[in-house]
Amino acid sequence: MKKFLLFIFFSSLLFAKINIITHQKFAVNGQAFYIKVVDEDNQSFKTLKVKFNNRTYKSLQNSSQIVLPISYYTKKGRYLLSIYGSYMDGKKFKKKFYLKVKYGNYKKEILRVSKKKTSFGSKSLKRIRKESKEAKKIYAKFSSKKYNKKFIYPLNSKITSQYGNRRLFNGKLKSYHSGTDFRAKVGTPIKASNDGVIKIAKHRFFAGGSVVIDHGEGIFTVYYHLSGIKVKVGQAVKRGEIVGISGKSGRVTGPHLHFGVVLQTSSIEALEFIKLMNDFVIK
Ligand SMILES: [Zn+2]
Repeated sequence: MKKFLLFIFFSSLLFAKINIITHQKFAVNGQAFYIKVVDEDNQSFKTLKVKFNNRTYKSLQNSSQIVLPISYYTKKGRYLLSIYGSYMDGKKFKKKFYLKVKYGNYKKEILRVSKKKTSFGSKSLKRIRKESKEAKKIYAKFSSKKYNKKFIYPLNSKITSQYGNRRLFNGKLKSYHSGTDFRAKVGTPIKASNDGVIKIAKHRFFAGGSVVIDHGEGIFTVYYHLSGIKVKVGQAVKRGEIVGISGKSGRVTGPHLHFGVVLQTSSIEALEFIKLMNDFVIK
């Protein structure tokens, strides 16, 4: 497994006693970006936030680390990041640095599906909107940390479609692929990537049989197109516990597991996120 390198921004030495450490020199749209804030006098932070691209993101609880989701829709360029918060004694601090965002090397993917599956009646549209609204509300909740272990893959299998593919349905660009598809014949047991609490456990229009787990700190993992759901909303699950059985429900061209990560409301590359969390955040 490729190890990340750490980069330190020394620009802060001039006026603040804060150093910013990141896992890469630049960020990539659709991927998580790791930031560690270090006070030279080893003072602990009471609060820590980062403002990026007009949005504010919270740090991981009780830590000086921020895992920033760089949304897929982020344009490439140089962004001014503002890191701010307070020390235990109440004193405030603020630190700014520039972050370069590059575009990920995402592929174009052409899918052929029946007309029935790309144009929807008013009843379906109503359901699609309702389900989307419901999910957004769930993802917006920043709950307390529920995991202590490293994240795992939901199954060991070949990846059939990567995150970020720009999807053309019957020649029309409809969306980007917000998760990673694993080859899984119908009936394969699917494991929880980490400890958490079930937030969605039902059949949905696009995603089919769906399970969503809240791991706390704005981190969610999603498991789609299931043929069977083994958990209930509100239930606490342990890492590795079987949450469902793979299938081909919802809008799919064949059986597989769609696995994804939502971080502070953005769908980001799940496997890179797991590597980043396991290498840096979870000891
Ligand atoms: Zn998928």
